[in-house]
Amino acid sequence: MTATVSSTQSEALGGSGARLGVPVIGAGFSGVCAGIGLLGSGIDNFRIVEKSEGVGGTWCNNTYPGAACDVPSRFYCFSFEPNTDGSRVYSPQSEIQRYIEHCVDKFGLRSHIVHGARVSERDFHAVSPGPAEKAA
Ligand SMILES: Cc1cc2nc3c(=O)[nH]c(=O)nc-3n(C[C@H](O)[C@H](O)[C@H](O)COP(=O)(O)OP(=O)(O)OC[C@H]3O[C@@H](n4cnc5c(N)ncnc54)[C@H](O)[C@@H]3O)c2cc1C
Repeated sequence: MTATVSSTQSEALGGSGARLGVPVIGAGFSGVCAGIGLLGSGIDNFRIVEKSEGVGGTWCNNTYPGAACDVPSRFYCFSFEPNTDGSRVYSPQSEIQRYIEHCVDKFGLRSHIVHGARVSERDFHAVSPGPAEKAA
C-alpha cells in the first residue's frame, strides 16, 4: 500500500504528495501496535503519520471529566506489555494515556511518528509473486 500525504509537515515525509512505502496511519493503539510489530520484524524504514500533535488517538483526544476505560485496564493493553499500574480496575483516561506514552517510549517509536500530517489518499497495489512464490 502507498499513501499520499498533504500537510504542512509533508517535507518531513519527502515533500507534498510524498508516497510512503510503509505508511502507518495514526498513532492510536492500532498505529502504535503496528509500529512495534514492524520494528519487531526488523523493519525500521516506516513513518507513523499522525494528524494531531499527540499519541494515543481516542485517549489523547477525549479528556472529558470521568473519561475512563470501560473494561478492566489490565485487559486493555498489548499482550506483550501488560498494564498493571492502574490505580483502579477501570483506569481513568490519564492512566491509559500514560500507558500508551510508555509503550511509544519503551519500544522506540517517537522518531517514527510525524505529527501534524494527514494521509489524504491511499492505494493498494497488487504485488507480483516472486520466483519462490510462483514455484510454490
Ligand atoms: C470517547 C471514547 C471512549 C472509548 N472508550 C473505550 C473503552 O472504554 N474501552 C474500549 O475498549 N474502547 C473504547 N473506545 C474505543 C477506542 O477508540 C479503541 O479501543 C481504540 O483506542 C482505537 O484505537 P485506534 O488506534 O484504532 O483508533 P484511534 O484511537 O481513533 O486512533 C486513530 C488515530 O489516527 C489519526 N488519524 C485518523 N485519520 C488520519 C489521517 N487521515 N491521517 C493521519 N492521522 C489520522 C487520529 O488522529 C488518531 O490519533 C472508546 C472510544 C471513544 C471515542
